[in-house]
Amino acid sequence: MVRKNDTLHGIARKYGTSAADLKAYNNISNPDLLLVGSKLKICSKQARNVTYVVRKGDSLAAVASRFGVKTSTLARINRISRPDLIRVGRKLTVPAAGGTAPSRLPAVQRQALAKIRPTPKKWTKIVIHHSATPVDDAVNMHRVHEDRGMENGLAYHFVISNGSRKASDGEIYISKRWKDQLDGGHVKKLAWNQTCIGICLIGNFELRPPTTKQLDALLGLCEYLMEQCNISAEKVTTHKILHPGHTVCPGKNFSLSAFSEKISSR
Ligand SMILES: [Zn+2]
Repeated sequence: MVRKNDTLHGIARKYGTSAADLKAYNNISNPDLLLVGSKLKICSKQARNVTYVVRKGDSLAAVASRFGVKTSTLARINRISRPDLIRVGRKLTVPAAGGTAPSRLPAVQRQALAKIRPTPKKWTKIVIHHSATPVDDAVNMHRVHEDRGMENGLAYHFVISNGSRKASDGEIYISKRWKDQLDGGHVKKLAWNQTCIGICLIGNFELRPPTTKQLDALLGLCEYLMEQCNISAEKVTTHKILHPGHTVCPGKNFSLSAFSEKISSR
């Protein structure tokens, strides 16, 4: 986001790129006329390309917008002469430098996320939870929630593992609720479940803090979701802040202020 007194050179230096790259990447014709508040895409040299397999109903433009790249760029890189004729099953190379946020996550997770298109305007907040169980995994939690009679099982949209069971530390599990863009079941009021994305970190943070890898994954995921769903940093919250007096979730060892600072310092 461009702030007052920012220059293209200054922004480029801050993000380890060049003003020329920024100019080309953002279609800026006059670098002296940067609009305060406008958002720039940062092309990071370290970012790796990802492969996307075309699915039924995809158009080149839709894939491009999901990854934050231009349709023409995607067509050029993949030598597509007829963008209206892309075959299902075709593998596309997508330059990973599309957005600023997804680059923090491993390519495989970025790819998995990019396959899901969030329902426009549905999601307005992100709510962070802990599982309150030191050893757990998403599959087991799904079973537990199903046994409790929850219609779609696992109450959250995402679960971030601490490596204690079947998933590795920092691994993000994408639940059916996110894949199918269903309401959550992670907070008490229906209106909240209809608008809040639920992310659960495995662990009991009343007893000990989340792992570094969990926090990194949470940051990458939140930044990705914020960009995709147009959610601001102030709308990233915790269960206990959303619903005071009802719960201690996600525990006293999770610091929202420290986490929010990381988001806004990006
Ligand atoms: Zn909670």
